[in-house]
Amino acid sequence: NYPELKGKVAVITGSSKGLGRAIGERYAKEGMNVVLNYRSSEKEMEEVIRGIEAGGGKAVAVKGDVSEEGLAEKMIEKAISEFGKMDLFVNNAGVQVEAKTHEMEFDNWKQIIDVNLNGTFLGVRAALKYFVEHEIEGNIINMSSVHEVIPRPGYTHYAASKGGVKMFTKSVALEYAPNHIRVNAIAPGAIDTPINEETMNDPEDKEGLEALIPSHAIGKPEQIAAVAAWLASDESSYVTGTTIFADGGLSLYPSFGPENK
Ligand code: NAD
Repeated sequence: NYPELKGKVAVITGSSKGLGRAIGERYAKEGMNVVLNYRSSEKEMEEVIRGIEAGGGKAVAVKGDVSEEGLAEKMIEKAISEFGKMDLFVNNAGVQVEAKTHEMEFDNWKQIIDVNLNGTFLGVRAALKYFVEHEIEGNIINMSSVHEVIPRPGYTHYAASKGGVKMFTKSVALEYAPNHIRVNAIAPGAIDTPINEETMNDPEDKEGLEALIPSHAIGKPEQIAAVAAWLASDESSYVTGTTIFADGGLSLYPSFGPENK
């Protein structure tokens, strides 16, 4: 636990399930007040909030789509009206759809870039505006992926969006380092969340995925939330402009591993 997080206020996009939810729950356990976000699943969102409140935490939610201008500002306004301030903005919302590139609809490409990359820009811009105007030494975390470095056939738009998140994160970190605003990314490997539901429900696919990961373990959302807690804490106070990989070794060129010798 990080005692300095108590009373801090975090905004987390796409947090009705999966990694965003796990991060919200972990932050609430740290005593942070959280502003969550859902696009359509109101019931799921209410359950998450009830769970956090049952544990003694404080959480509120804002409905909206991260690819639309205005949501990030609305979430920050909610943080201020409910909790008096905002210390940390987590751009977590993300989507993926499989498609061969030569058959990919332009709308499909645009949707992925819109949510994963444009959504991250909109969140980062709103957070920076708030931090700069109030001279706050704020903190921003962007959810990237191992696919910011590992090419991903069948999901080239996804890989392009995460590659974009990587360089955007680094560039923003450099631009705002003099303001002592930290900007980092997390690159999860394969984590057991609804985004991977199909794979997790198919024993053969699941086994194939486990075989691909050097540690042979699919990650748990809590393991990513732990990285998000550390990045939020003062323990990472000198860390900015970097991506923390939490992937069981997936980005280490597994085909060179001892089992393939
Ligand atoms: P998920 O599908 O389980 O959850 C994604 C969340 O984002 C949901 O709450 C969904 O409602 C929300 N969302 C989607 N589009 C949105 C939009 N336009 N506006 C607002 N909210 C929206 O996925 P997850 O696994 O929790 O993924 C979270 C992030 O982590 C994504 O950016 C994803 O790319 C990244 N990631 C996940 C994995 C993994 O293996 N699970 C690996 C690498 C990176």
